[in-house]
Amino acid sequence: MTNKKETPQHALQRSLFDAVFFNAQEPMLVLDRGLTVLLVNNSAVKLLGWSGLDMTGKPASALVLEKDLADFSELTALAAKNGVVRNYRFYMLTSSKNIVRLFLTVQSLKDEAGAVNGFCFYLSPVSPDEWSALKDPHVFKNAARKLNRLTSIGQLTSMFAHDIKNPLHVILSTSELLRAQEGQPESVKTGAELIERNARRASKIVKTLLDFSRSGMCRLEPYSVADAAESALELIDSSLKAAKVGVQRDFAEAPKVFLDPHYMHSVIYNIINNAVQALDGAPQGRVKISSGWLEKEKEVFLTISDNGPGLETGMLENLFQPFFTTKDNGTGLGLYLARQIMDEHGGRIIVSSPAEGGAIVSLRFKKTV
Ligand code: ADP
Repeated sequence: MTNKKETPQHALQRSLFDAVFFNAQEPMLVLDRGLTVLLVNNSAVKLLGWSGLDMTGKPASALVLEKDLADFSELTALAAKNGVVRNYRFYMLTSSKNIVRLFLTVQSLKDEAGAVNGFCFYLSPVSPDEWSALKDPHVFKNAARKLNRLTSIGQLTSMFAHDIKNPLHVILSTSELLRAQEGQPESVKTGAELIERNARRASKIVKTLLDFSRSGMCRLEPYSVADAAESALELIDSSLKAAKVGVQRDFAEAPKVFLDPHYMHSVIYNIINNAVQALDGAPQGRVKISSGWLEKEKEVFLTISDNGPGLETGMLENLFQPFFTTKDNGTGLGLYLARQIMDEHGGRIIVSSPAEGGAIVSLRFKKTV
């Protein structure tokens, strides 16, 4: 209902809210801090089968399987801490107690003093086929084989990323211009800001794809993993210094392995960068890089560990999910691409987080020279 005293600016704000929330294509819910449903948009009503009014005031436990409740509160706690958790694989319940498989993005909402006062949930449903494909790591590997392995993926990605870069640039500069124009109502500025923030995120994804791809051939050559680590360290040196993160090296004797230096530098760079971001100016932040030969496994290892806060247990199985991120400006592509690249090298990647804190990422290579 339109309020008679509503100013044109308020009316515009309301239309904007209707457009970006109630009538958005993406199903969305708003929950308060105690995880009670406050607002539901039309797409969420359609997806979950409740009527909007039925859902309002319901506790989150009505929408989530009992076994997932602990994960759910861990997820919201993490979003409260970091601002956002994107694309977490999750189940939700419909009004008739059917299960909907989806990717859940949780964004924390803050009051003027910066305290978290609620959460916005973005639901992205997945078909059962896509869901089981995501559970099977070999699906990606086989798809890659069909595409004639990494070379083709690199070419495709780089073509796609280049094509998308220009339209994104137009969106970004137009929204910047709109926001900067004098006399624009606040709601238009807010809308332009929203477009700008999302276009920046899309640009970052495109940049990551371009960093990880290349249009030329993928060439495996005999290479020392310690040398690959040193090259990546050189590239990331200024970030390490700026964040005051110390580096400890422990390179033991190990045979060379077959690797593509370009791809491997991107993988190692990204893992070190994750460690630097996790340390986030912590005093005595340290990254340790070690390599060597594991006689029992017959593998060469390159392990990168940090003494940051480590990973929440519930997050471990989501790490290799494309677009899963707990960072406000993350792309969630780093570890996903790292695993694909390790697969193509006939190797693997193992992530663990010991109880005493910190994260350990180990790259393992089978094919030795
Ligand atoms: P992004 O860095 O863009 O978020 P990644 O795929 O590289 O994407 O990482 C996915 C998520 O894994 C990160 O958002 C973070 O939550 C977690 N993560 C990765 N490395 C670390 C680390 N060293 N310490 C703590 N969390 C980490």
